[in-house]
Amino acid sequence: MSDSLRVSRRSLLATAGAGALTAAVPGVASAAGPDEAPVSTPSETKEVDVAIIGAGLTGLNAARALKSAGKSVHVVEADDRPGGRVWTVNLDDGTPVNWGATFVGPQQTEILALAKDVGVGTYKTWNSGKNVQFFNGQRKTYAGTVPQADVGSLLEVSRAMSRLNGLAGSMDPATPWTHPMAAELDKITAHTWIRQNATKLMSQKLLDLAVPALFSVEPWEVSALHLIFYVRSAGTIQNLLNVNAGAQESQFDGGSQIICERVAEQLGTGAVTYSSPARRVVTKDGRTTVYADGVTVVAKKVIVAVPPPMIPRISYEPLLSPTKDQICQHSPMGSVGKAVAVYDTPWWRAKGLTGQATSDIGPVKITFDISPASGKPGVMMGFVDGQDARDWSFWSYEDRRAKVLAQFAEWFGPEALSPRQYLDYNMDAQEWHRGCPVSVPQPGTITGYKDALRRPEGDLHFACTETATIWSGYMDGAVRAGKTVAAEVQAAL
Ligand SMILES: Cc1cc2nc3c(=O)[nH]c(=O)nc-3n(C[C@H](O)[C@H](O)[C@H](O)COP(=O)(O)OP(=O)(O)OC[C@H]3O[C@@H](n4cnc5c(N)ncnc54)[C@H](O)[C@@H]3O)c2cc1C
Repeated sequence: MSDSLRVSRRSLLATAGAGALTAAVPGVASAAGPDEAPVSTPSETKEVDVAIIGAGLTGLNAARALKSAGKSVHVVEADDRPGGRVWTVNLDDGTPVNWGATFVGPQQTEILALAKDVGVGTYKTWNSGKNVQFFNGQRKTYAGTVPQADVGSLLEVSRAMSRLNGLAGSMDPATPWTHPMAAELDKITAHTWIRQNATKLMSQKLLDLAVPALFSVEPWEVSALHLIFYVRSAGTIQNLLNVNAGAQESQFDGGSQIICERVAEQLGTGAVTYSSPARRVVTKDGRTTVYADGVTVVAKKVIVAVPPPMIPRISYEPLLSPTKDQICQHSPMGSVGKAVAVYDTPWWRAKGLTGQATSDIGPVKITFDISPASGKPGVMMGFVDGQDARDWSFWSYEDRRAKVLAQFAEWFGPEALSPRQYLDYNMDAQEWHRGCPVSVPQPGTITGYKDALRRPEGDLHFACTETATIWSGYMDGAVRAGKTVAAEVQAAL
């Protein structure tokens, strides 16, 4: 068995999980035998106030809020676990590693409050020492947040970041299409905006790097207006990019998925049906019926809490509006993978390095030390974003491992070549995600479709981190979206 498969999911998960992980590693055959073929279960029918499709942070928090308001709920989840884009696996020694969301920042007060509520603590991301930068084939190190570049480029970057914050400051995050420059900004991509605001190659390169880091797409694949919205939603560009006092400051003890597991448990036995993809939603005679594998849920209201591109993969009677369907078509998911190398200790720390690197060549362009709070084992994680994620999905496991470890060795030292475990995955291969971390509106989408994504249609309500106005795209945004849609549904019941 290759190292990439030698991970175990939480005890909650059935053998199906191993198959799902295997499927995430292109070119590696599934270990499932014929006797593990899926068996169709007879469908039971449940009648509740609110049916919820999707047990990610949004769906779970909507269910939590509705339940505490005295409403009956049932959640159907396609996967065999709660969490969705929050997904934690365990290494050989039980150390949790997040395939999905990892980091949390001090401004993300809703997810922090939820974690505290369910008894999950945080620890600081390792950030002592120097960062590595590998541009134009040259390795340099720097301390703090300002990379090594000529003064002219640094000034341009700083000015462009101030402009981003300024443009974001005049945006109402609930209605980004009403921004005074919305029409102009939604006609261009982030790539064009960067070139309009920075002329030097080095400053363009530094600014370009932020785009795949945030959205896992290339700068020419996202509307400049959406980039401004993202900054507005997080407060400042610094909040998005920084470790200290920013979105990467901390991680959850035991992995992020524990939060979702605990919320799901609190909903009560049988409140969530797993391995139960919703296939069809039919509204008739004042009732809406969700037909999912293994369960049929009849409800007064339905919350569709799946990412935008997954919304039209369910069939609806009556049909969704064309604007709802089309905004989903115009907001594809990013492409993302993660590579993780595990060592007995985080040896780079002794060399005075944070374990953070940025590079202008892939497959990995950004790394973090994601070792647990104890510092044992040492875990180095590399993000593979945008075009790099698409490219590496064609490579063999051996090629991916060799290229990633060679990058880690070039940046941190030859010790990187001998991990005790190496694993990687591509979230795009997951059946119920088909890409991550977020869906990304193309130019023309925000001004063209406005609030079509979050607008209710009949008895159907829609929510996901992408509908959040604060920390959209993040775990925090998902918690907020869950609460918002629960209030909306309660008012409509
Ligand atoms: C690689 C990666 C890194 C990330 N890093 C961070 C980070 O460091 N910090 C951070 O805050 N955020 C991060 N995020 C983003 C964060 O994970 C998401 O914003 C958040 O988890 C979204 O929650 P959600 O409930 O809106 O959507 P999801 O988590 O996508 O939940 C939707 C659920 O619906 C289910 N589903 C889909 N279709 C159906 C169907 N037909 N029937 C039933 N169920 C269905 C899915 O299986 C899923 O469980 C990251 C995401 C990824 C993938």
